[in-house]
Amino acid sequence: MAMPSTVKTSPEFPIPETMKAWVLGNPGELTFKDKPVPVPKRAEVLVRIDAVAICATDLEIIYHGPPAMIEGGAPYNKNFTPGHEYMGTVVALGPGVDEYRIGQRVTVEIHAGCGQCKRCRQGMYTSCHNYGKNYGDVDKGHRANGFTTDGGFCEYQVNNINTLIHVDDSMSDEEATLVVTAGTSMYGLTELGGLVAGESVVVTGPGPIGLLGVAVAKALGAQPVILTGTRDNRLEMGRKLGADYVINIRNEDPVKKVRELIGGGADYVVECSAAPNAINEAAQMVNRGGKICLAAFPHEAPAVDVAHLVRNNIYIYGIRGEGKSATHRAEAFMRQKRFDATLIHTHTFDMKDLLEAIRYAKDRVEDAIKVVVRNNHAARQKAAAE
Ligand SMILES: [Zn+2]
Ligand SMILES: [Zn+2]
Repeated sequence: MAMPSTVKTSPEFPIPETMKAWVLGNPGELTFKDKPVPVPKRAEVLVRIDAVAICATDLEIIYHGPPAMIEGGAPYNKNFTPGHEYMGTVVALGPGVDEYRIGQRVTVEIHAGCGQCKRCRQGMYTSCHNYGKNYGDVDKGHRANGFTTDGGFCEYQVNNINTLIHVDDSMSDEEATLVVTAGTSMYGLTELGGLVAGESVVVTGPGPIGLLGVAVAKALGAQPVILTGTRDNRLEMGRKLGADYVINIRNEDPVKKVRELIGGGADYVVECSAAPNAINEAAQMVNRGGKICLAAFPHEAPAVDVAHLVRNNIYIYGIRGEGKSATHRAEAFMRQKRFDATLIHTHTFDMKDLLEAIRYAKDRVEDAIKVVVRNNHAARQKAAAE
């Protein structure tokens, strides 16, 4: 089907009727298939996907299911395309859209909330109460690409304009895929946490969110910024991204060291390790009245020393995604070169080699951190024409 007349397109960006898309069958089973190119509706644009980063949450979804929720349940055998950290070019505008132009480079947030629940009305659309309700007679219009609707391991995807972030031309495609990760750290520290310059931050766990958490904290004026982890090369990267101190927990007791470096403990701990005792250690690192942001999800339910939390007026909050347009502020920091997010991008593959890219991300082959897959649109158009 060609685009309907209510959708604006341009001869500069011809849109095929079908595209190649990875589709999830049983757990861990992805196949590369033809799918129709989706049509943007009101307040939506069609994004030609140029690059997508693989996230740990994609692996959770592909192998275990949650937090994806398709038609009220697990995402398997529902013709579902995962992938959510993508960027690309606007190639078609749905009815009424004048906020973006065809040809503009954008990166995307995941969540377009329903817009009508209590949390969406507060701007906390990543905590939408109608998550996953976008089908049949429970259709509330909620979208979270790669979670509750089709995502980015394909060539084209529709996006609500509220999920778009304009990308400066000085930023590479690969770097642009990292905006949403930096935006998640930003949301945890500023919008949810209220961090101001001069406060101290400990980040536990040098994964992508942890490393960019260090970078964002430093750019926000946090002082000092401390990173803990087990691998020296990751800690070294944390230093390059702005950590004033790094602690290898194999060699040193992190609680003792943090309290030594910051008398009384830190104002914030951003927990990104998912280690079984991480929450108790974080509670020992943070100062009285301090805050713990939980950004990693362990599979087991940990035992928590609640009395310590109570006696010390410690705040604990989970972070779910990248809300309140924190991604726009993250993109601004990246545009201003306040930190070099590209340090965490380690590998690039072609979209057709997604399975190999996933293996690199999952097994951390060659110490992979962020693995990016790219669409070679020109080559595919040429092959289709022949
Ligand atoms: Zn992600
Ligand atoms: Zn909502």
